[in-house]
Amino acid sequence: MKPDDEGFLYPSIDQEKCVCCCKCLTVCDYKKEKLKTEEAEDVEKNGYLPQPLIYGARLKDRTALMESSSGGAFTALSDIFLSDGNGIVCSSYNYDSHKQQFHLITDKRDRDNARGSKYVQSDPGNVFTEGEQWLKSNPNKKLLFFGVGCQAAGFKSFMAAKGLSDRVVIVDIICHGSPSPEIWRKYIKNVEEKNGKIEYINLRDKRKGWNRSIAVAKIGSKEVSLQDYRRLYSARLNYRLSCNECPYTKIDRSTDITIGDFWGIEKTHPEQFDELGTSLIIIHSEKGGKLFDRARTSLDYFESDSKKCLQPNLERPSAVSSAREKFWKDYRTHGIDYVIEKYGKKSLISRAKKILKRIF
Ligand SMILES: Cc1cc2nc3c(=O)[nH]c(=O)nc-3n(C[C@H](O)[C@H](O)[C@H](O)COP(=O)(O)OP(=O)(O)OC[C@H]3O[C@@H](n4cnc5c(N)ncnc54)[C@H](O)[C@@H]3O)c2cc1C
Repeated sequence: MKPDDEGFLYPSIDQEKCVCCCKCLTVCDYKKEKLKTEEAEDVEKNGYLPQPLIYGARLKDRTALMESSSGGAFTALSDIFLSDGNGIVCSSYNYDSHKQQFHLITDKRDRDNARGSKYVQSDPGNVFTEGEQWLKSNPNKKLLFFGVGCQAAGFKSFMAAKGLSDRVVIVDIICHGSPSPEIWRKYIKNVEEKNGKIEYINLRDKRKGWNRSIAVAKIGSKEVSLQDYRRLYSARLNYRLSCNECPYTKIDRSTDITIGDFWGIEKTHPEQFDELGTSLIIIHSEKGGKLFDRARTSLDYFESDSKKCLQPNLERPSAVSSAREKFWKDYRTHGIDYVIEKYGKKSLISRAKKILKRIF
């Protein structure tokens, strides 16, 4: 995999070694014809439910809930696998390289460190082959995968090609878009150069509440705001171009479970709102249903439906920003400080709106 000039990884084929089996092309989920035939096969093989089951849920453990980005579905589901001695595959943050990287984890402490959404595309490294080897050398064990739609589809296709699907449960995470690792690294190294070595990053700090979360980095006794990066992320300027045609932005998916934030809960289920956040959990398969059944004891949960849980990225992909081209041009010409100042600062209008809101 080699980065392009925006820092996104793309496969690069060594033509000397290629035997033209075309497997790399046939596993690619962005080929829509393949999606259709594979989905039909999946329904037969994997016990897909005729209608997904939809829940809102949050951890009963308030400390773990505070550390989770949403309602802690990741912790509740992975607890079951780890307690049984199985493994999980998920991504976590490396504070030296400033990369979000996939790992195979068997320990709850490592799992706890993987909490928290990082708004940067994560690097799969060798986790696909590592997962395959681990399953082969632990024939009685299973793996639970967590990643956004495209990563989940890749892992699922890979495990199917290796004949290991029966021992893998796939959880995909609702995604607004995968931002450039190059922009993130330049940005965060800049923060370090100005302030010192970062010990901890929380892009979804809930001290003001889950739906008013802030982005911060801890540097010694200091705290530095990363809100300008969050604004850049929300503006859809630095996403991978393929996010614009993401095939996973729908409720029906061919994973076992989908998790995300239960946005809009204060309107659709006001009695269930909680300041520390709520996860949306969509169960697609019998396998997923069995896992959720076992996780229920650690959760406060309620049933919902496909109308009450709707949010933009369950209906359509995030559209490319009309300022994307200009953003990259500005970045290449003037560097990271310039684009953060220009695109990541709050506009005067939104500042004025906030002040007026406070007054009234
Ligand atoms: C880039 C991105 C965009 C998102 N967009 C939306 C959205 O539009 N709507 C919505 O409802 N939810 C979205 N989410 C999901 C949401 O932010 C939470 O990650 C999710 O609800 C899980 O929360 P939790 O409390 O169960 O997990 P936590 O305990 O906070 O664990 C976070 C989980 O996310 C994984 N993770 C963290 N960063 C990344 C990454 N960069 N790539 C892949 N996996 C990662 C971790 O490995 C872990 O499994 C997005 C997440 C990411 C990473």
